[in-house]
Amino acid sequence: MSERTRFDLPQSEIPKAWYNIQADLPEPLPPVIHPGTLQPIGPDDLAPLFPMALIMQEVSQERYVEIPEPVLDVYRLWRPTPLIRARRLEQHLDTPAHIYYKYEGTSPSGSHKPNTAVAQAFYNKEEGIKALTTETGAGQWGSALSMACHFFDLDCEVYMVKISYQQKPYRRSLMQTFGATVTPSPSNKTNAGRAILEQDPDSPGSLGIAISEAVEAAATSGGTKKYSLGSVLNHVLMHQTIIGEEVVKQMEMAGEYPDIMIGCVGGGSNFAGLVLPFVREKIVNGKDIRFIAVEPTAAPSLTKGKYVYDFGDTGKMTPLVKMYTLGHSFIPAPIHAGGLRYHGMAPIVCHLYDLGIIEAVAVPQNPVFEAAVTFARTEGIVPAPETSHAVRVAIDEALKCKESGESKTIVFNLSGHGHFDMAAYDAYFSGQLPDYDYPAEEVERALADLPQIA
Ligand SMILES: *Cc1c(COP(=O)(O)O)cnc(C)c1O
Repeated sequence: MSERTRFDLPQSEIPKAWYNIQADLPEPLPPVIHPGTLQPIGPDDLAPLFPMALIMQEVSQERYVEIPEPVLDVYRLWRPTPLIRARRLEQHLDTPAHIYYKYEGTSPSGSHKPNTAVAQAFYNKEEGIKALTTETGAGQWGSALSMACHFFDLDCEVYMVKISYQQKPYRRSLMQTFGATVTPSPSNKTNAGRAILEQDPDSPGSLGIAISEAVEAAATSGGTKKYSLGSVLNHVLMHQTIIGEEVVKQMEMAGEYPDIMIGCVGGGSNFAGLVLPFVREKIVNGKDIRFIAVEPTAAPSLTKGKYVYDFGDTGKMTPLVKMYTLGHSFIPAPIHAGGLRYHGMAPIVCHLYDLGIIEAVAVPQNPVFEAAVTFARTEGIVPAPETSHAVRVAIDEALKCKESGESKTIVFNLSGHGHFDMAAYDAYFSGQLPDYDYPAEEVERALADLPQIA
């Protein structure tokens, strides 16, 4: 085994293809359903929102999709990202486990999100689109897409969850630096936004509402603008597999193989990006790996949600998707500082969970920040609050190894740094972050009015 701490691939080793798990699923994904006809949708139903290249990727059964050269050119600004052995954390925990993290915070906007933002901007530009509309919560996705749009000469319109717009002014400035227009959501620019404001003029907003606004803005643009989503969809998860494909090579360099792989889940894209190439090894080659998706107890889609057909947005503008969901009207508790606030979850992640191929756990925010601080003090990187959910469970698994004496190899995705999230750390340090369990009754209530689809 290597004594090295950092496993860097040369740029010549950047993977040239994304991996599409749909080729290897033991059962196909449930169809996406049209809310009007209750029949499976076809590519044409999605054409007002997405370019055809991405729609075809969404339903593709090809095992590998070649990464276009102009996308690779941008990836080369920061990829391959390092795989780092957390030796100082291991020593601090006094664990026989080997802990590795894949550091996606080295991208220009500080998270894994540019991996798909760049690809999406490229395909839209290819099809003659002029602008992309999108939503953002904390601003990570909006920053990534703003940068990508600017690189490919597209305008970018971001609907930012209002409470984040107010609390995270520097994220907004970052998007503006890349030339994006940022609108607090709910806004009076769209029917969806106006409907919410009529009911609740002080609405803090939610991802579900901001998605409705961005979707409406694209759908009513006469074809010049398309919509872009930063997580959840099959093609987004596929773009993120460049993370795991690099880790396959980096684990070889390290001379080890993962026993446990961990990622935080909001919509599921960074987790999937890390693990799907290894899920392939589990399904196709029988490798024995545990995959753990970590979510907040304040937004527990996998662990408390129901696996039913639901809308992707609050305004019921999207198709119906089968996913573990808290209901499309879900609004997270404002005291929750850890991100990962989406009401649903990527259909691929849900399907793998339903099939028992991956596991899920929910963790409360104080233990999450405690783990983040331990990580920062040992490894020197301040993780994003979202990422810190994965850090918590990586530490928990390493502590279990300490008890059992087992020397397992644990790999987690350090999906982004927390340099824009110091207000959340402040709130933690001053004891202002109550732990919060989302009540199961609320899930029942929110799901009561859903269309029933077998
Ligand atoms: C957006 C974000 C997440 C959550 O999104 P997923 O699609 O679940 O990966 C996690 N970590 C960071 C740093 C993010 O910016």
